[in-house]
Amino acid sequence: MAERTSKLVDFHCHLDLYPEFEKLFGQCDELGIYTLAVTTTPRAWKRNHELASRTKHVRAALGIHPQIIAKHGADIALFEELLPRTRYVGEVGLDASRTHYGSFEKQQAVFERVLKACASSDGKIISVHSVRSAKVVLDMIEKYLPEGVSSVVMHWFSGSAAEARRAVDLGCWFSVNSQMLENSRSAEIVAAIVPKDRILTETDGPFTKAGSKPARPSDVSLSVASLGKCLGMGTDEVRLIVHENLRRLLADVPAPVSKRL
Ligand code: MN
Repeated sequence: MAERTSKLVDFHCHLDLYPEFEKLFGQCDELGIYTLAVTTTPRAWKRNHELASRTKHVRAALGIHPQIIAKHGADIALFEELLPRTRYVGEVGLDASRTHYGSFEKQQAVFERVLKACASSDGKIISVHSVRSAKVVLDMIEKYLPEGVSSVVMHWFSGSAAEARRAVDLGCWFSVNSQMLENSRSAEIVAAIVPKDRILTETDGPFTKAGSKPARPSDVSLSVASLGKCLGMGTDEVRLIVHENLRRLLADVPAPVSKRL
């Protein structure tokens, strides 16, 4: 019996940052690409969620990006208000790069509220940014997010090998893109440390490129090819593994607390 090729997974893409934002939801659905539409501000979530609700393949994540905290940290209140309405959270986290280091303390205060809200709510799937801050991000996940309550997906992880091992031990998943895997240290971490059953693919479009254009969810095939090269696997095998991983991630999230009691 001929095996069908598994569907593609883009577990971190900013659909609402493209000019044809609304059309992209339908396109992802037609192409059968499982897409997590992350948001940078909780103000964007409702529209993303409305559009995603009409599709089988796209889900909208509620986000408050570390890079907006300097100006819009107060939006954490809206994040907390909306959180009970979604299972998907992102993009959230910390950014200690030079441009954003000035708000690092404020970012930590907001991320603490994000994690506490996730910890006291039903099981969430959280796409986490950790630029130059993997240690602090992992410290905070360990401190505020009880094990087994939510699933954390480290998006475009760029920490050290030791930090990657710690993230694995804390139960984190990893979503990887082709640009990330061009970095040899990151590629080695993915090949040697990240368990094969905790890897997902992403584009982080439009912040990565496919040729000279911003990557779209369909360009996640580039991430699949890079991941295949990194793991010494064919693309069909990578697609199968990632699709299986997605299924397990969605199934592994614990039932709502009220149902467990
Ligand atoms: Mn992103």
